[in-house]
Amino acid sequence: MSGLWSLAEAGARVGGTLVGDGEVVPAALSMDTRTLGPGSCFVAIRGQRDGHDFAPAAVAAGAGSILADHELAVPVPQLLVPDTLAALQRWGQARLEAFRPPHVFAVTGSVGKTGTKELLAAATGAWKTPGNRNNTLGLPEALATLPAGVPAVVLEMGMSTPGEIRRLTEIAPPDLGLITNIGQTHMENFVDGQEGIARAKGELVAGLRPGGQWVHLAGDSWCRWVAMQPWARARAVPVGRGSAFGWQDEESLGLLGERFELRFPGGTVPVRLRLRGSHHVRNAALAGSLAILAGYAPGAVAQAMGEVDAGPGRGRLHALRGGGWLLDESYNAIQESILACGRALLTLEGGDAVAVLGCMRELGPGAAAVHRETGEGLRALGFGRVLVYGDQAQALAEGFGPGAKAFPDFESLRDDAPGLGSIPAGARILVKGSRFWRSERAVEWLLETF
Ligand code: ATP
Ligand code: MG
Repeated sequence: MSGLWSLAEAGARVGGTLVGDGEVVPAALSMDTRTLGPGSCFVAIRGQRDGHDFAPAAVAAGAGSILADHELAVPVPQLLVPDTLAALQRWGQARLEAFRPPHVFAVTGSVGKTGTKELLAAATGAWKTPGNRNNTLGLPEALATLPAGVPAVVLEMGMSTPGEIRRLTEIAPPDLGLITNIGQTHMENFVDGQEGIARAKGELVAGLRPGGQWVHLAGDSWCRWVAMQPWARARAVPVGRGSAFGWQDEESLGLLGERFELRFPGGTVPVRLRLRGSHHVRNAALAGSLAILAGYAPGAVAQAMGEVDAGPGRGRLHALRGGGWLLDESYNAIQESILACGRALLTLEGGDAVAVLGCMRELGPGAAAVHRETGEGLRALGFGRVLVYGDQAQALAEGFGPGAKAFPDFESLRDDAPGLGSIPAGARILVKGSRFWRSERAVEWLLETF
């Protein structure tokens, strides 16, 4: 028994009319025929394209049932509802209500959500939203398969526009919150700039259940701003200098990762992370503090966080065949993380430091300035070469100065023989870029070439 709900049970909770055998138990919910697993319930969402048109493809891919807003000519049971998105959200919400564990954690922030979610889930033995299911579609889709009896749940909550996190907290009201940082991502969707972003992230704090608590970095000025707002009634717990929770004696272990002492009221506990870069120390200090606040034993929290490995694109370190290192940080990029990863790479022994970068996105009118500053920052850290592609490549290359080369796209970077020749054997290479620029292609290419 999977314990998951049959179509009929789900229908009793979200409403709707059954067509066909209601006893069928979907293994998962999926709105994407390309990733749908066998036995899933295909959720037909009206987006840019109408998901209902893909029902036959979903059935061919193994869908065992369908959630739709009208009856479809496919040979599987269907639950018909007026609004499939609302029904999907209600399904996830009802599942959490039915099996709500003592602790529901929610993680948001401009950057570092997924990595911090992994650390917090390890620290608390929690069930977590898989991968990057952090929006108003992915989160309820994942919650629909929440197993019964888990001790805690960790949810990643993301947003690109105001109101999204509020909606997520309505679907899954958390008790404990964590904001990794409030930085410059998605600037272009916010006319009121940084304050608008802070208010949107703050929706997580406003959405905490009564008695809720949340953690943030003591030095994050926009998080402190959130903590002072009248709508942010939950208790804010700063982590860092001057606070009962924080970290000290931070030390890079180079290849092995990072080490620090996690401070909490009443003591400290040593943490050794397998992750490389001081940004992971900050994430772990936040995750560890929140777990301890929730009542988990500090020693167990520290040990569990030490077992977390970097995922692909999020800090995986490769030894190059011809000598040297490649730090695969290709998943995403903002200025802070490019520099944090650059610093982490430079703690390794090796040859010249080279950054192969895709541009950053969603920076709005300040994009060129941010790229220029990032180039300057890499120069100041001690990088010798920068190969960068994308719409703001020129600005970053100018900021870096001699030794930088800009390309319009990845293909032209790859095909540039002199550029390639300029990566010396034994180099320490950082690959990073915004999701849009798919810099994982650079990782594949460099691993084949060096
Ligand atoms: P998304 O918005 O795509 O869900 P995310 O917030 O989940 O992103 P992660 O996937 O955890 O972020 O991390 C993305 C990249 O950001 C990582 O590769 C890492 O280099 C960097 N990063 C992680 N934590 C921090 C941090 N606290 N400060 C700066 N950079 C960070
Ligand atoms: Mg994420």
